[in-house]
Amino acid sequence: MQNDDKIYISYNQVHKLTKEAVERYRINEIYKPDLMIAIGGGGFIPARILRTFLKRQSGQNIPIQAIGLSLYEDLVTSDPDIIGTQVIKTQWLQFGPSYTDICPLLGKNILIVDEVDDTRTTLAYAVQELLKDIEEEKLKFIETNSAGTPIPETKLAIFVLHNKKKEKRMELPDPSIVNEGRYFAAKETPDKWLVYPWEANDIDEHTTKSSLQENNE
Ligand code: 5GP
Repeated sequence: MQNDDKIYISYNQVHKLTKEAVERYRINEIYKPDLMIAIGGGGFIPARILRTFLKRQSGQNIPIQAIGLSLYEDLVTSDPDIIGTQVIKTQWLQFGPSYTDICPLLGKNILIVDEVDDTRTTLAYAVQELLKDIEEEKLKFIETNSAGTPIPETKLAIFVLHNKKKEKRMELPDPSIVNEGRYFAAKETPDKWLVYPWEANDIDEHTTKSSLQENNE
C-alpha cells in the first residue's frame, strides 16, 4: 500500500482515544461538563462518543448542542492573511422548549467539541461567539434578578481528538481555557493531514491502512 503521508484514523482509535482522554484529564472528576457544543460536521461523532464516557451526577445524558462553522476559503484572493481566516456560521445554538432557563449558558461548564485543532481559527471563532452570547445572558440575568445577586460563572472548555503541533494562526479569546487546564486534546499529532473514518469511501481499506500505520508506530 502506498505511503501517502496522511494519517488514517479508525473508528476504534477514535473511540479508544476518547475514553483514554476522559480518564487522563479526569474530566468527570474535575471539569464535570453540563453541556457539550459540537462543531459540525467533524465534532458530531466525537461528541456522541464522548457522551458515552461522561457521567452526570444526576445520571442523565449530557445534552449536545450542534453548531455549524465553516472556514471560508473560497475568497478570490491570494492574501495569506485572509485565506482560511474567515469563518462563517452555518448553524448556531438552539435551545428547544424543554429549556425553560432564560440563560441556558450562564453558570454552566460548557465543553466545545471538534475533531481537530489545526490552525485554531475555527475554535477561536467558536469561543469568541459563545463569549458574546454569555455576555448577553449576563445582561439578561442582571435585568431579571435583584441588585447584587452574584452572576453565575460559566466555564468554557475544549475537547479535540487531535491537536496538530504547529504554530497556531489564532489564540483562544478566553485564555483561561488553556491556562486553567480546560483544553483537552486526546492526542498531539504532527502537522499532517488526518483522514477520519467518517470521510472514507471504502471503510475496509481505510481501516486496513490505519492498522498498518498503527503497527508501524
Ligand atoms: P482550523 O484550521 O480552524 O483549526 O481547522 C478547521 C477545520 O479544518 C477543522 O475543524 C477540520 O474540519 C478541518 N481540518 C483541519 N485539519 C484537518 C485534517 O488534518 N483532517 C481533516 N479531515 N480535517 C481537517
